[in-house]
Amino acid sequence: MLESSLVKYGEKVVSCSRGNPCSVIFDWDSIWAFSKSCENFNPMSLRFFHTHPHGSVNYSTIDENCLKGWTISFNFPVLFYIISFINSDLENFEYQYSAYTIENGKMVSHRYSPQLRSTDLAMLKSISCAYEER
Ligand SMILES: [Zn+2]
Repeated sequence: MLESSLVKYGEKVVSCSRGNPCSVIFDWDSIWAFSKSCENFNPMSLRFFHTHPHGSVNYSTIDENCLKGWTISFNFPVLFYIISFINSDLENFEYQYSAYTIENGKMVSHRYSPQLRSTDLAMLKSISCAYEER
């Protein structure tokens, strides 16, 4: 499985990309351009999702640095999800997740963050698995 990312603003898909087995790619330029193009942009509606391929939903140093950067850029503790699918079967959407924000410069876990929508899970899973070598 590859890492994949999805950025949503409310129900709108802002960005969706595929990384490689150990790093994720967020299309920062388009996310930033989108935020600038919105009238009355509200960072509270922004959600960052990405998948980890190997069962771990712990954050990496890169994840932490990305989230710190976005928190500063948007001047708001944006919500960041790490999702790990149980297997690479495209019909099975069982997953684990963790969710974080930055508060006072530190990663804070959000246990009771909203559950993921099935459409978002399907998008992330197909990006992560569809191009995998079998
Ligand atoms: Zn990560």
